[in-house]
Amino acid sequence: MKTSIENLALLGGTPAFPEYLHVGRPNIGDRAVLMERINDMLDKRWLTNNGPYVQEFERKIAEYVDVKHCIAVCNATIGLEIAIRALDLKDEVIIPSFTFIATAHALQWQEITPIFGDINSATHNLDPKAVEKMISPSTSGIIGVHVWGRPCEIEALKEIADRHHLKVMFDAAHAFGNSHHGQMIGNFGELEVYSFHATKFLNSFEGGAIVTNNDDLAQKIRNMINFGFAGYDQVAYLGVNGKMTEICAAMGLTSLESIDSIIAANRQNYLAYKQELSGVPGISVAEYDETEKCNYQYMILEIDEKISGINRDLLVKILHAENVLARRYFYPGCHKMEPYRSLYPNAGLKLSNTEKLTQKVLSLPTGTSINEGAIYRICQVIQFSILNHKTIKEQINIS
Ligand SMILES: *Cc1c(COP(=O)(O)O)cnc(C)c1O
Repeated sequence: MKTSIENLALLGGTPAFPEYLHVGRPNIGDRAVLMERINDMLDKRWLTNNGPYVQEFERKIAEYVDVKHCIAVCNATIGLEIAIRALDLKDEVIIPSFTFIATAHALQWQEITPIFGDINSATHNLDPKAVEKMISPSTSGIIGVHVWGRPCEIEALKEIADRHHLKVMFDAAHAFGNSHHGQMIGNFGELEVYSFHATKFLNSFEGGAIVTNNDDLAQKIRNMINFGFAGYDQVAYLGVNGKMTEICAAMGLTSLESIDSIIAANRQNYLAYKQELSGVPGISVAEYDETEKCNYQYMILEIDEKISGINRDLLVKILHAENVLARRYFYPGCHKMEPYRSLYPNAGLKLSNTEKLTQKVLSLPTGTSINEGAIYRICQVIQFSILNHKTIKEQINIS
């Protein structure tokens, strides 16, 4: 309990937590079941190359989101690259800058120029009006990202794409298990790509999946993830090795069996944070639509310094000192990281909402490794810091 300013770890007090609390700490399913699967695959000596666990994982993911085809891949970044190539995207593709760097890299790696469109400050997602402004004769497609799992403006992006003869796909790395107007994410655009990286709420150690309702596209992608092989000695496409391994699929299947309890824990954490932080000046919690399915995997705050008296970066420092490793997603924005910063030095001029948001957003620990007691103490540090912001800033300047 922080009762006086000297108690803050930043000012020499004891950290509120003896061990680090991480954002994205992996959720672990039933260990015994996982070990059984691992022993079984070792007995069978079938470790990769579309084995029975990968097939079962693909079937269960497709069932869960009610999509026709699921192709499991080694990670979402390679999944995005394969998807981009399978759709024949080229020259310029519009994406948000407010996303994980992999969305941009997947394009640039193939010498396709990512054109950064600004976001809507309220939703944190790509603003269709900004997208329309970025279209040029070289634009071939749009990649929408469902940031924090909140669906981006799917219909508006589709309408723009149709008018300009562009293809639309989605980076759904955050959005497995979420719905939009009652339909599961995974069914929109030409295809969508999930991530099952260890830090995502549902994990397969490393992994991802491309989902689509298009039969031809699914077959093409299936060949592409396996060097382009279409038959024993027949290569039909420029391919790569994008296959998911059996051990990853076993982890994915085991995680999937716990998905209800993981989501329930995330939701409980979200509600607890929301309750503890309601009414704290200058803090707003990013809301989820309770009428839709939602995985609640990100606990996101916006700090308004004018009201809180404390800026996001100082709050991060205070929390880190308490061993709460809050994160500044997606700071500083893709356009401010290399190689984009050097290649497109003026991109920021059209990204004013993105630049403002990257100064305000904070991600807090959630998932099955944290409990309500910890959440209460984290919120108390935040509340206490805002209440005492003047004294804290004075003390830091003195020391
Ligand atoms: C995690 C993430 C990725 C990359 O996923 P990997 O499976 O780690 O390659 C891509 N896009 C977004 C938005 C992500 O959050």
